[in-house]
Amino acid sequence: MFDALTDRLGGIFDGLTGRGALSEKDVSAALREIRVALLEADVALPVVKDFIGKVKERAVGEEVIRSVKPGQQVIKIVHDGLVEMLGGEDAETRLRVDNPPSVIMMAGLQGSGKTTTTAKIAKRLSERDKKKVLLASLDVRRPAAMEQLAVLADQLGANVTSLPIVQGQMPAEIARRALQAAKLGGHDVVFLDTAGRTSIDEQMMAEAAEIAKIAQPKETLLVADALTGQDAVETARRFHERLPLTGLVLTRMDGDGRGGAALSMRAVTGLPIKFLGTGEKLDGLDAFDAKRVAGRILG
Ligand code: GDP
Repeated sequence: MFDALTDRLGGIFDGLTGRGALSEKDVSAALREIRVALLEADVALPVVKDFIGKVKERAVGEEVIRSVKPGQQVIKIVHDGLVEMLGGEDAETRLRVDNPPSVIMMAGLQGSGKTTTTAKIAKRLSERDKKKVLLASLDVRRPAAMEQLAVLADQLGANVTSLPIVQGQMPAEIARRALQAAKLGGHDVVFLDTAGRTSIDEQMMAEAAEIAKIAQPKETLLVADALTGQDAVETARRFHERLPLTGLVLTRMDGDGRGGAALSMRAVTGLPIKFLGTGEKLDGLDAFDAKRVAGRILG
């Protein structure tokens, strides 16, 4: 996903490490190139400005210039700046699922990968953490979406079940029924897969806010399609205005988009990225790790 950016940065870094000594001018020139590379990769402008400002402060100094390997030092500073931009090494990426039944509410636009991601996280919790998981779809306007979640649950083994579909119920009623069923059934985690729309509207937000109030989720995750670039950033910002989001999941990181929007999400919204979706299959999910992503970007 970051291939183009990785190539660009690699070229800039080769220029820095290819010689023994560096002047402040060399470093400033390299930072200007990095700035352009990040903007071309679709990283949001204010995030780029902030990043370059911080890196510059650390890199354009006697200490770096006069060090034995100034080029390597600058690369290390860029790496650390990227990790910071992505939320830092100790980013709060673990899911809070320790008080059964813990509710995880899933939100996002239709087609963002919300239902698939719900199943992916459920699989992970059931297989790795041995949690008993209940999946409930609240998408009452799209029977196919409710059916899709039930079909996915069937693929996930005995520890993951879906709430039986009852025709004619409102989302809030389904949420209450899911909570009740989880208490009675001894489930550790309940997923509420909320309705997606093709665009954000007031009704959708009001419905999601009502469900959050009823279900008091421990986690409210926004699923956004990384390939939609700055639209994904804007979607996250708008959802966060109305919902107490606790984290982000960026899907289609396996696609060949510019990827930079994903890098901006954390800085723009202040929310931790918890997972990356990396494929259509149910094991296509990576727990987010800022250091690993920064390492991948730098090649
Ligand atoms: P929803 O409408 O938000 O619930 O979206 P779905 O979960 O139905 O996903 C829409 C499409 O995106 C499906 O074909 C999924 O297989 C696909 N999808 C979801 N996540 C990913 C991902 O991380 N990578 C890829 N390549 N496809 C994904």
